[in-house]
Amino acid sequence: MTKRVFSAMRPTGRLHLGHYFGVLENWIKLQSEYECYYMSADLHALTTDYSDTSKIDRNTLEMIADWITVGVNPNKTVLFKQSKVPQHSELFLILSMLTPLKRLYMCPTYKEQLKEIKNRNLHNYGFLGYPVLMSADILLYKSNIVPVGEDQVAHLEFTREIARKFNGFYGEIFVKPQEQLTKAAKFLGLDGRKMSKSYNNSILLGDDNDVLKYKVKSMFTDPLKIKKNDIGHPNGCVVFSFNKILNRDYKNREEECKTGKIGCVSCKKQLIEILSEFMKPLSEKRKDIIADKNYIENVITTGCQKATEIAQKTMEEIHKILKF
Ligand code: SF4
Repeated sequence: MTKRVFSAMRPTGRLHLGHYFGVLENWIKLQSEYECYYMSADLHALTTDYSDTSKIDRNTLEMIADWITVGVNPNKTVLFKQSKVPQHSELFLILSMLTPLKRLYMCPTYKEQLKEIKNRNLHNYGFLGYPVLMSADILLYKSNIVPVGEDQVAHLEFTREIARKFNGFYGEIFVKPQEQLTKAAKFLGLDGRKMSKSYNNSILLGDDNDVLKYKVKSMFTDPLKIKKNDIGHPNGCVVFSFNKILNRDYKNREEECKTGKIGCVSCKKQLIEILSEFMKPLSEKRKDIIADKNYIENVITTGCQKATEIAQKTMEEIHKILKF
């Protein structure tokens, strides 16, 4: 039987190159080998954005348009919206009965995010129970493989724990999912920090030429390389980090920088060309997809129907085993 992959993203709107190289490239590879379920986690978005939900739906459309633009194929994969499959919430409730509060307080991401996110009050039940909802998402589809970054491994361990507990109490229903570690998702942003929309340092998928020019010009470079002939240190330079990923000839660029054969102005000009070439087809495809709102909505509706079929089946088994 073909193994099942589950993965999700919170709908935060348009995606950036960090999402592409950190997550989507892998999703595209997986879709030719496995049965893949990719979800817009709009219920999860509520855990932090509960006071203003006005952008969540539009953000889902933009995000799914980006998935399709880069090559996630709705004919091969199931693309859907969490809130339209009510079984997620039902399983979340059932699993929450088996979850000791102490275990949730111990989750490293809970502590970290409480520290980091200062502009919203996160002392709520939903935020604490985030890993339980995530477990419900994964277990509902009896997923075998879940692609995750290092920071999500603890959540997957939690999912296996809760699956073991449930299976132990009531009978073997859940498959214990395995993580597939995605390679370092740390893609540098314009200012040298991790690329993130909250830092306002991203290059978005489909950015046009003028935007690219503006963004590349603002990229952080080696502060010690002022004149063209100065010896450069490419390893601390954002322009070089982009070259390493997008330019097949990056070793040559490294050498030219280190030996003062190229200056930052011309190095940036060449990166603009490389990025434009990479982005042009994406930008054109994205424009067509986003203009056809009906198409994206149909993809989501079909995906939700397919996801519901599986989710319903699992919930029927659960009802039976729980003697409801
Ligand atoms: Fe960075 Fe290029 Fe300048 Fe070297 S020449 S510091 S790689 S921008």
